[in-house]
Amino acid sequence: AKNKGRNSYQIFNWTMHTEVKQRLQLENDLRRALNKDEFVLFYQPIYRLSPQQKHRLCGFEALIRWHDPELGMRSPDSFIPIAEQTGLILPMGEWVIWQACRQWQQWIQRWPQLQQGGNISVNLSPMQFVQPDLPGQIDRIVSHTGINFRQLRIEITESALMQNETAALETLKQLKAKNIQVAMDDFGTGYSSLSYLLRFPKDVLKIDKSFISTLEQSSDSQAIVKTIMALGKNMELDIVAEGIETAAQVQFLLEQGCALGQGYWFSEPLTEVQAEQILEQHFAT
Ligand code: C2E
Ligand code: CA
Ligand code: CA
Ligand code: CA
Repeated sequence: AKNKGRNSYQIFNWTMHTEVKQRLQLENDLRRALNKDEFVLFYQPIYRLSPQQKHRLCGFEALIRWHDPELGMRSPDSFIPIAEQTGLILPMGEWVIWQACRQWQQWIQRWPQLQQGGNISVNLSPMQFVQPDLPGQIDRIVSHTGINFRQLRIEITESALMQNETAALETLKQLKAKNIQVAMDDFGTGYSSLSYLLRFPKDVLKIDKSFISTLEQSSDSQAIVKTIMALGKNMELDIVAEGIETAAQVQFLLEQGCALGQGYWFSEPLTEVQAEQILEQHFAT
């Protein structure tokens, strides 16, 4: 037993050592990735759910990917947490806003139809959201790229609002004053969604995909989605359902009056080139 104890102690130590090394490695890789421009944005289309002729394309959510020369395309869940912990999320996040706005400006020029209610959504991490100069930064990027303030939508989660509520409220007020749209992401999954709903200005609720993916099996999920829809309607907010994968989910959401949605049923997140093919088809007359 004594031997075993010593062994497991060594294993524990070794594991910690490896984890620390891996984290340091990842941090270095992320720094290099930033300098070498290894990040790319993918774009997931957001559609009007009502199927008049075809679902109308209303915009895109920008989703970051890391084109790692060794490991290939990596998803944000594998590097955003470390980027947050090391502060690298700040330059990375600023790059995301720049890139998304530049892209949107190009698309608006090619497909002016996008101006009608269309928008580009960008995810902001909590750390990014609480930096004091965020409104200034966004203002500079939007002005420089020439897009319409109204067409930029930021997606934040409850955790962005939790750390410093006074500062968060101030930031949101400044963004709202510019007409930037604010979406509450992963709505319903947090600890105090309703009290945040009361205290902070917002335009859009994004129903988390965990509720959508269980709609067909769970009457509780159905009840939650119905309730979020009712909230949205009464508070005059737009609702976007994320993670739609089946026709039955589209049907249910339509019946509840949900106007907008995204998910594999419509399209996976697309490369710039793929997104342009979709736009080309969509607006071909
Ligand atoms: P999120 O904001 O909730 O984004 C939705 C995620 O669901 C995306 O994963 C998207 O690819 C995925 N998804 C879309 N449709 C479906 C579907 O029908 N079924 C399923 N199962 N999944 C679907 P992704 O791109 O891996 O992003 C994961 C998370 O990483 C995002 O969750 C967001 O929190 C974060 N993230 C992505 N891009 C950025 C970024 O530029 N900045 C920051 N701070 N976070 C980002
Ligand atoms: Ca999002
Ligand atoms: Ca989500
Ligand atoms: Ca999320």
